[in-house]
Amino acid sequence: MAEALGTNRKVVVIGAGTMGSGIAQVAAMAGHPVVLRDANPDAAQRGIAQVRADLDRLVARGRLQPAESAAMLARITVSADDAALRGAALVIEVIIEDLGIKAQVLQAIEPLLAPDAIVATNTSSLSVTALAARLQRPGRVVGMHFFNPATALPLVEVVAGRATDPAVVACIAATARAWGKSPVVCQSTPGFIVNRVARPFYGEALRLLAEQATTPADLDAVLRESGGFRMGACELMDLIGHDVNFAVTRSVYEAFFHDPRYRPSLVQKDLVDAGWLGRKSGRGFFDYREGAAPVVVHDRAADAPATPRHVRVEGDLGAATALVALLQQCDGLVVEIAPGAGLLRVDGHALALTDGRTATERTLTLGEPVVLFDLALDYAGCGRIALAAATQASDAHRGHSVALFAALGKRVTEVADVPGLVVMRTVAMLVNEATDAVHQGVASEADVDAAMRQGVNYPLGPLAWGRRIGLPAVAGVLQHLAQAYGEDRYRLSPWLRQTVHANSHHTASEASA
Ligand code: NAD
Repeated sequence: MAEALGTNRKVVVIGAGTMGSGIAQVAAMAGHPVVLRDANPDAAQRGIAQVRADLDRLVARGRLQPAESAAMLARITVSADDAALRGAALVIEVIIEDLGIKAQVLQAIEPLLAPDAIVATNTSSLSVTALAARLQRPGRVVGMHFFNPATALPLVEVVAGRATDPAVVACIAATARAWGKSPVVCQSTPGFIVNRVARPFYGEALRLLAEQATTPADLDAVLRESGGFRMGACELMDLIGHDVNFAVTRSVYEAFFHDPRYRPSLVQKDLVDAGWLGRKSGRGFFDYREGAAPVVVHDRAADAPATPRHVRVEGDLGAATALVALLQQCDGLVVEIAPGAGLLRVDGHALALTDGRTATERTLTLGEPVVLFDLALDYAGCGRIALAAATQASDAHRGHSVALFAALGKRVTEVADVPGLVVMRTVAMLVNEATDAVHQGVASEADVDAAMRQGVNYPLGPLAWGRRIGLPAVAGVLQHLAQAYGEDRYRLSPWLRQTVHANSHHTASEASA
């Protein structure tokens, strides 16, 4: 395993803004002498003041001794003087997100550095390959992508450009680990891991809103309380800022030569056009201004007298199998197990887990109306479930379906009859994107999953989630979405298709053996 840079080695951080000051603090806390450099002296002073304030907070919380904090602060020198670069083992560039300016700044200092010094960039969207190509020693250039706030978030994407020396990648990963971070390694491709694989989380939410399937508050409630996501997509976009989120989506879309999978949304463009950028401007999907009306989540009330008495589980419920035990524990409910096509029948009414078709379409194949329910991260622990009813379903049918989940202690959100409901289509698209990144050699399966758990707090890595649902089921959802929309956006990743085929062959040969 590669060794981390010794803590006696000097780290130079160029750019003392939001990210640079945090990164300087992380390196100083790990024991390195740090030089913090900014073109703007006021920014450098603000940066060091931010470090001081953060260390003071840690002391106040008893997480750091005052003497340790003072020593960490003393290790950071603010200097724009070229002499301060002497002996630097690692330079981390954290300035404005502009390839030309980054290259210019690094070209100016490269001749002053030792030949074995490593030049890292904290860019979140630019090509590390392209930046490295503009320098004399592209083999020493690497991406070191921290997440905001750099002091608190563990993830660091270590990005290898085409020419990056593998020993440099290994050394930066080891150094990040020595700094208490969780590094993942990836290739220099648009969005790296997190900003690429996370796109469908926003994209499918925006798509559902564009189709008027539900409201932002209801969508978020389903993603949080059923999907297990820390935040709903709408509140998260409001927090990130729609200008920033829209710009990242556009940049990934452009960088992939307009692949429809990453196509930006008119819903988000409209928010940006309106200046409704989210929290920072007072309103986005939600209204943050003083006196604003509270957010309303619409829970579908169970209509009396729909208390369910009898449920028949017909066949294998797939990813929703955990519901069977929950139903069996439900007081006063008779649960009958029968063979069948993977349905729940509540006092005669059919319910099924979404497979990516609408309930109305599924009604045609079933030969009877159906109400669909959404995927949950954990059916036992979740507080909410989303339902969608076929156009042909009666009010009684819908009422019984709501009542069944209410009897299991779930709040119910009814969304329009869209393919794949909310959680299922979001997760299926995340799995698809993650498998495609693995298929294209962007990163390993383990690193993709770790990046999504640590970088954006997903409750499970997409690949682990896909396996839990069952990859054939995920592939089926995507194929149905592709059929429903007729768009290349929902095309199946070759990795997913291949894995499903490989496993079905295996099962077939086992069965015949
Ligand atoms: P920022 O605007 O807060 O800070 C940038 C700093 O760089 C400013 O203090 C500015 O004075 C300084 N600077 C600009 N030109 C300079 C130059 N020629 N020489 C020296 N200093 C110069 O920006 P930020 O949010 O800290 O982002 C910096 C980089 O980190 C960008 O590449 C950004 O994409 C990336 N990044 C940002 C985030 C985030 O959430 N803010 C997260 C990950 C990565």
